[in-house]
Amino acid sequence: MLMRKSVMNILAAVCMAAVLCSCSFLGGTNGETAQKTEFLAMDTYMSATAYGEGAENAVTLAKDEVQRLDKLWSVTDENSEIYAVNGSGEVTVSGETLELISFMLDMAKRTGGALEPTLYPVVKAWGFTSGENRVPSSDEIQSLLQNVGYEKVSVSGNTVTLPVGVMLDTGAVGKGYASDKAAQVLKENGVKSALIDLGGNIVLVGKKPDGEDWKIGVRDPDGDGVVGIISASDCAIVTSGAYERNFTVDGTVYGHIIDPKDGRPVDNDILSVTVIASEGRLCDALSTALFVMGKDGATEHWRTHKDFEMIMLCKDGQAYVTEGIADRFEAEEHSEMKINVIEG
Ligand code: AMP
Ligand code: MG
Repeated sequence: MLMRKSVMNILAAVCMAAVLCSCSFLGGTNGETAQKTEFLAMDTYMSATAYGEGAENAVTLAKDEVQRLDKLWSVTDENSEIYAVNGSGEVTVSGETLELISFMLDMAKRTGGALEPTLYPVVKAWGFTSGENRVPSSDEIQSLLQNVGYEKVSVSGNTVTLPVGVMLDTGAVGKGYASDKAAQVLKENGVKSALIDLGGNIVLVGKKPDGEDWKIGVRDPDGDGVVGIISASDCAIVTSGAYERNFTVDGTVYGHIIDPKDGRPVDNDILSVTVIASEGRLCDALSTALFVMGKDGATEHWRTHKDFEMIMLCKDGQAYVTEGIADRFEAEEHSEMKINVIEG
């Protein structure tokens, strides 16, 4: 069961990456050869594609970087720093892990706990960390929620302390954080044009080699195709949606993004939310949190902060797009989806 689920996840990720990448390469690359590496990390199919001098070596180094961070931050790897924190309650961690935890706590505060880094026991109870999915009883969820709350985490210097039973989950932010680090490695190695795709967490370095914007597809949450194309460069693009990882019991679909208020999979007016910003970590944290908030909460969050743009695909069949990205998002040719612009 565990293996079948993992293989399904990998296949789903491969399909999604293919959709995104095929869109990314629309419009030519000016004859430059793509250096692409594909790999598995963070339970996800990933790739890095770079162009120009030194690209071959750079994509290998970027892959090594993501796999190194996976070892550091995995919640299931017994040798990871996050596993150590979750197991013993008080651990001195590396500067990088401290950075990740501090960022998650900052984003938890900023989003009023919609991003909840201590949700691990609840996520685990639904089986999303093992692939052995089940529907926990209300009593079980209520008792696990006693140990959830980002304010229970204390950080002093490099020492992170958790009360007994409190556990961190890096699932909502780790890939985005790793994508920034991978982009940094590419840039340090002279790459000026690259696309990193960590399972739908995209970072675009520069423009395409032909000087045009990259074309990134936004997947149809109800199907395999894309509903629209984003034209962009030098930024990160991350999508969260229940379609990415879920299971069905008695006709009810249970998605992997959990509302920390009730410990149950989010079921609101949003099907997916795509966030566009300068950094992958911000996009990743926000895409998860905005999905939890729902359309109105997410809109209010954008109006308050304005340091990101977003595209929400909603259950009413419409897209809601913030004004800063509206002219760079085009509905797919045959799509009947109506695009509504969210103004500030
Ligand atoms: P993402 O795909 O980035 O939206 O992250 C979803 C993953 O983050 C899930 O698979 C869980 O491991 C974890 N998660 C689920 N709900 C939340 C939440 N409300 N806050 C933080 N992490 C969550
Ligand atoms: Mg996320």
